Amino acid sequence: MVKADHIMPEGDEGARTHCLRCGTCCMKGGPTLHAEDAALFTKGALARSRVYTLRKGEVVRNVDDTLMVLDQEIIKIKGHGEAWTCIFYDDDQKACKIYEHRPVECRALKCWDLREFEEVMARPDLQRRDLIEPDDGILKFIEAHEQRCPYIALESAEKGLRGPDSDKAVEKILDLLQYDHYIRTFLTEKLNIDPNVMDFFFGRPLAATIRMFGLCVRQEGDNFLLTPIDARYDP
Ligand code: SF4
Repeated sequence: MVKADHIMPEGDEGARTHCLRCGTCCMKGGPTLHAEDAALFTKGALARSRVYTLRKGEVVRNVDDTLMVLDQEIIKIKGHGEAWTCIFYDDDQKACKIYEHRPVECRALKCWDLREFEEVMARPDLQRRDLIEPDDGILKFIEAHEQRCPYIALESAEKGLRGPDSDKAVEKILDLLQYDHYIRTFLTEKLNIDPNVMDFFFGRPLAATIRMFGLCVRQEGDNFLLTPIDARYDP
């Protein structure tokens, strides 16, 4: 399955045998993590606050620039703010800040020869449960969130907007948004959990990813207002 978003620089990939340090691969997004990358968290090279989860049902961009719907969750390194550039990429030095401990996809990526990278992409992906102790109470919140806010529910409600029960569909979407917002707020404000870990526990906020369904959200306090957008979501 193709699911990474590293894109190769155009040019003489066939003739080249070394890295030009152009930074293209790191600026096109952080890597997808695989089971063997769990060791980087144990070593302290990676932390859960530096990664985010893409949940089952989310739309992602493939290496060949096509879009696909995830059939299972994956975990990726975050970008700088809203940008896709990997959070560990140092643009001034044109270097990786965790080079000695970079994830397996980064080690395998040679843009002039993708064979090793493709082999790594086929390996088992890292999952949230690989980074959470089995007795950690957060698992119950994640499970509740998955049951209440799966992407399939959002997709179904969005389709309902064009049917006879569009009012109910709006109600359903707002309910999903409210719950997704509530669970993050509850955990950060009431249980003092680091807000930077929320995108790992629950994926990116639905208020942001709802754009993949052609909708936009305006938040006023704890309430949401839905508005359509012209352009489809660009993951
Ligand atoms: S971890 Fe390092 S090598 Fe990998 S994408 Fe980020 S900056 Fe690049």
